[in-house]
This record gives sequence, structure tokens and C-alpha cells, in this order.
Amino acid sequence: IGGHAKPQEGKMNPPGVKAVIAIGSGKGGVGKSTVSSNLAVALARAGKKVGLLDADIHGPSQPRMFGISKRPASPDGKTIIPLQAHGVTLMSIGFMLPEDKAVVWRGPMLMGALQQMMMQVEWGELDVLLIDLPPGTGDVQLSLGQKSDLAGAIVVSTPQDVAMIDARKALDAFDTLKVPVLGLIENMSMFICPDCGREAHLFGQGGVAAEAEKLGLPVLAQLPIDLDTRIGGDEGRPVALGDGVMAQAYATLADRFIK
Ligand code: ADP
Repeated sequence: IGGHAKPQEGKMNPPGVKAVIAIGSGKGGVGKSTVSSNLAVALARAGKKVGLLDADIHGPSQPRMFGISKRPASPDGKTIIPLQAHGVTLMSIGFMLPEDKAVVWRGPMLMGALQQMMMQVEWGELDVLLIDLPPGTGDVQLSLGQKSDLAGAIVVSTPQDVAMIDARKALDAFDTLKVPVLGLIENMSMFICPDCGREAHLFGQGGVAAEAEKLGLPVLAQLPIDLDTRIGGDEGRPVALGDGVMAQAYATLADRFIK
């Protein structure tokens, strides 16, 4: 981020965006959206111009995580003005639909929505656009990997074996798509007892680091299970907005992306 990577011609890259970074996971529920929202906030707090595209079209979480949900304006009926919250420019399919309304679409419609969210949204000048991917290795990953010029991808996993098995597939998919993987983030690494301070490795230990080492990739962060993180996500105030240890952890993570 902060560089001047020029998007390739004909690619699905918003014109004023310097770098597009995808955040993926194998499994759902590992904290990919939580990490995306907090990393976006931390980068914004560090002075970067940040956008976040919620590409999880079947399960958009960002409206709730940022505490906003209103229909973005489209003055000319074509271009869409993204929403702003906590210093981040945002777009999510969830802004277009009530929270309990399901998106029941076939692949081509999903791809149309993704294309619109990338190219018809007025993202403006951004240092970085983070993309909160759906879990797995489906149409959205394929389409983005082939049509966009991604500066890189991050894979979020918990240390649990079942999560890591799927994370490996996500890593393999990025490899196939020739998207450089910037590193792994281990979320829900451990639980630190608020009473006695003891660490409990509820989902196992060491799996993410071992995989990262095998692939020659860095572990960008190890984030504990944390009550404020969960509450912040549910209440629309990402924990990275605060001044506690988690905000510090996300600031440190953001620093790794700032050249
Ligand atoms: P994903 O995007 O991978 O499906 P989410 O980010 O939606 O996962 O997280 C799933 C749930 O776990 C959410 O309720 C979120 O608040 C919670 N969560 C994520 N990371 C943490 C964490 N480090 N500590 C506590 N709760 C977390």
C-alpha cells in the first residue's frame, strides 16, 4: 500500500485504487470479516485512504460490523456512492437488502453484483481496497483472481485442524490463480483468562505457524479470542477504534502493510 501499482488494462480494478488486497479463509466463522473490518479501521487510523468491499454476497457481515445499513445513493442510476463509517469507504450487498433477506442467485448474477461493486461504485482515490471474500474457493475467488489485478491476498484461519485443512485449499486456490499470498493470520489463537491470565489454546496450537513455515509465508498476526472483539463486531464499533490491546494488535498488523 502507498505504492503506485498501475492496474492492467481491461482488468476489473477500480481506477483510483492503488492496491486491492483480498482477505480469504477456507472455513466460514473463523473471523475473516472481523479481521477485515478491524484491519480497515486500523489502516484508516494510520492515515491511509481505505475502502472495504464486502464480497460475501450470501452472508454480508460488514453492515453490522460497521453499524450502518442504508441504501447507498445512485444519483444517475448507474454509479453508486459508497457509504462511509469509522473512516472507511464501504460497499456491501447488505446495504441493498434487509438483514433477513436471502440472496438466492445463480453464479452469473453473483458475478454481476461483484462486477458492479468493483466498477460501478465510486471508490474514489484509495490507497487500498480490502475485499472481504466469501469463505471457500468459489466463483467470487475465481472471478476476482482472473479479472482483477490483486496486489495480494491474506488468509485467515483458526489453529483448528478443520479450519487449516480448508485454509490450505484457499492458499492453493490463490496459488493457482497466481495471486501472491502476503501471509496468514491466526485468529482465535488462544483465550487469555481475564481472572487468572492463563492462556488456553482452545482450538489447538502451532498449526498455522507450521503451515506458514512450510510455505515460506509470514504469520502476520496471532489474535486471541477476545470479548471486546466480539462485542465490537456485533455493535458496529470495531475493536480497532479503541485504545486497548486489540486496537494495538490491529495497529501493528496495519503497520505491516504500510510502506
Ligand atoms: P467469518 O467472516 O470468517 O465468517 P466472522 O468475522 O463473521 O467470521 O466471525 C464469526 C464470529 O466470531 C463473529 O461473531 C465474531 O464477532 C466472532 N469473532 C471473530 N474473531 C473473534 C475473536 N478474535 N475473538 C472473539 N470473537 C471473535
